[in-house]
Amino acid sequence: MSERPFLDVRDLKVHFRTDDGLVKAVDGLTFRLERGQTIGIVGESGSGKSVTSQGILGLHRHTRAEASGEIWLDGEDLMTVSDERLRQLRGNKIAMIFQDPLSALHPYYTIGSQIVEAIRVHHRDTSKSAAKARAVDLLGHVGIPHPARRVDQYPHEFSGGMRQRAMIAMALANDPSLLIADEPTTALDVTVQAQILDLMRKLQEEFGSAIIMITHDLGVVAEMANEILVMYAGKAVEHGPVHDVFYEPEHPYTWGLLTSMPRLDRARLARLNPVPGNPPSLINVPPGCAFHPRCGYTGEVEGARCRSVVPDLAPAGPEHLARCHIDDARRAQLYATDVKPRL
Ligand code: SF4
Repeated sequence: MSERPFLDVRDLKVHFRTDDGLVKAVDGLTFRLERGQTIGIVGESGSGKSVTSQGILGLHRHTRAEASGEIWLDGEDLMTVSDERLRQLRGNKIAMIFQDPLSALHPYYTIGSQIVEAIRVHHRDTSKSAAKARAVDLLGHVGIPHPARRVDQYPHEFSGGMRQRAMIAMALANDPSLLIADEPTTALDVTVQAQILDLMRKLQEEFGSAIIMITHDLGVVAEMANEILVMYAGKAVEHGPVHDVFYEPEHPYTWGLLTSMPRLDRARLARLNPVPGNPPSLINVPPGCAFHPRCGYTGEVEGARCRSVVPDLAPAGPEHLARCHIDDARRAQLYATDVKPRL
């Protein structure tokens, strides 16, 4: 029997009962991740990508959410561990980096005291001075100049990029083996974004953490991730190694995401091709393939199957999966003739 991977998420479902109906925010997600590897979970807002990370952190507990499936982390099923154990794991073995550091950093406390607190919550026997020395060390590590001085400053005294670095330092305080980064660079300008991604890559090499990178921007995961999982309306629609998803994408939604990506080599004012239409409401997910109201290829499928039958997430290559009724050969042809010329 093969050994379990470091993180093994199986058939994860997170549903919410609301007055208007059942919201299937995550509807049967399966993926695995090894230490030192990064998976990019990509989708528009409302695709279920952030609820997936909240599910892994157990944030649905004691809410109206109904969650099922298995989340094995280093041999423990996070779905069944006690609240106490989950609290120990959060911030210790699992850490989170958010989009907006200001919402994660408290404005009334210095950056240093917040890192010290993050350390001492999990290691009560660490003295304040030892924790502070570690905070200075961590700030230096994430590229904050004069860390011994800046450790005593408040979040508003840091620039946006520096705050994001400080939050990464805080996330790393307890050497987490799983780092969940939810849109970590969205609020930053392109240059700072590149610096932060570069920093995360270096830290991953050094610390060997597994990273789940959640983003709406395929470009962010292009160089960082080993594999990509594209989500639409709570389900995976494409999943595979980064190279396959970028160079041999199999799903019309991924084609839309790729053609709408801004590219440096394209004229600045060149028109982008955004995916037409809006993501569906999760209360009213379209029947059949949830993407069908926005898909330009339904004519390729016989009858009304796109509108009535949910496609399976089926093999499209050795490690590549896609959820579309069009057969593989025709999809390859469509990609080559219709999509690739627009990239
Ligand atoms: Fe488009 Fe139909 Fe494929 Fe869905 S199953 S992506 S609607 S062609």
